[in-house]
Amino acid sequence: MKKTAAISMIVSLALLTGCSGAGTVELPASYTTDEYLGTVITITVHDAPADRKGDVPAAAEQALARVSEIHNKMSATIVGNELDRINSAAGTACKVEFEPLLELIRQSKHMSELSGGAFDVTIGPLIKLWGIGTDHPRVPDEAEIANAKRLVDFRKLEIDDAGKTVKLAEHGMSIDLGGVAKGYACDEAVRIFRENSITSAILDFGGNIYAFGKKPDGSNWNVGIREPVIGSDKIVGVVSVSDTSVVTSGGYEHYFERDGEIYHHIIDPATGYPPKSGLLSVTIISKSSTLADQLSTACFVLGVEKGCALLDSLPDTEGIFITTDNTVVTTGGIAGSFKLIESGYKLAD
Ligand code: ADP
Ligand code: MG
Repeated sequence: MKKTAAISMIVSLALLTGCSGAGTVELPASYTTDEYLGTVITITVHDAPADRKGDVPAAAEQALARVSEIHNKMSATIVGNELDRINSAAGTACKVEFEPLLELIRQSKHMSELSGGAFDVTIGPLIKLWGIGTDHPRVPDEAEIANAKRLVDFRKLEIDDAGKTVKLAEHGMSIDLGGVAKGYACDEAVRIFRENSITSAILDFGGNIYAFGKKPDGSNWNVGIREPVIGSDKIVGVVSVSDTSVVTSGGYEHYFERDGEIYHHIIDPATGYPPKSGLLSVTIISKSSTLADQLSTACFVLGVEKGCALLDSLPDTEGIFITTDNTVVTTGGIAGSFKLIESGYKLAD
């Protein structure tokens, strides 16, 4: 799997850049991947200094190779990878070789604490039970939910910084980074772009966008927020930003239907079911895509009131919430940068 993905990435690079030689690359240039971390990733470089333009394809390749590495090490569905090793060892401590994985687990445990467990890095048993991300999702019965819920508790995740080990206290517990790995991979691609002097780009990791730098004309990027309705390609509004991540969580993309009910892929650890928090989607705006990814999942579980309170307690995080009665609620810091364009929605007072 690793090999196939890497090869097709290089093919895409060649196709999309037209195999230009050094110094002759035409911008904007787009680079795309197979499915990594559950989504197709497209990065588009819009500008770089004249003497660095020829390095753009190599920089894009380096960024996507890093994304591929993160996918391989951190995906919860690759048998035998480093995360799987930690999960299989539940009940005993496991040494973590890939430092970024240890760091991301640490950060995710911290977010689990901050969000009061709405985001829980040990959500694995519930995600597996529902079959989320597999070809055979199903609605578990209540006894199964109760059993899995008992195994979801970030407090029972021990991290030993000195020994670089992670220990899940009980057999059957598991870490799932599906709500954060894409954001981390995006931040890594951004870091590599910066190191390569790229000045203007859009990184599109499914619902995770990074508006890198400004547009080549010096103005802000306008990032559209999709109507959070299954099958819709309308835009509810746009947010004007630069050098910032814009990350949305919602129930309209990854879901399945049983007996007329829609079940999506975000689970409330407190109930074991998709949350009924009155939200259709939450968009988080933050310089850190890792943080935005965690917070979008957390706020989707928490709902408007608790979600806004959490965002207000953190620096550099803003949110745009779309509720089930088609109202758009924004936190104070982003209100002036958001423009509603879809008439079926109203701004909260
Ligand atoms: P998307 O993957 O569509 O961008 P999210 O960032 O909200 O959406 O992540 C959803 C994923 O996060 C799920 O597929 C699952 O792996 C994981 N997840 C679901 N519920 C929770 C939760 N309460 N806490 C932490 N992770 C979760
Ligand atoms: Mg998320």
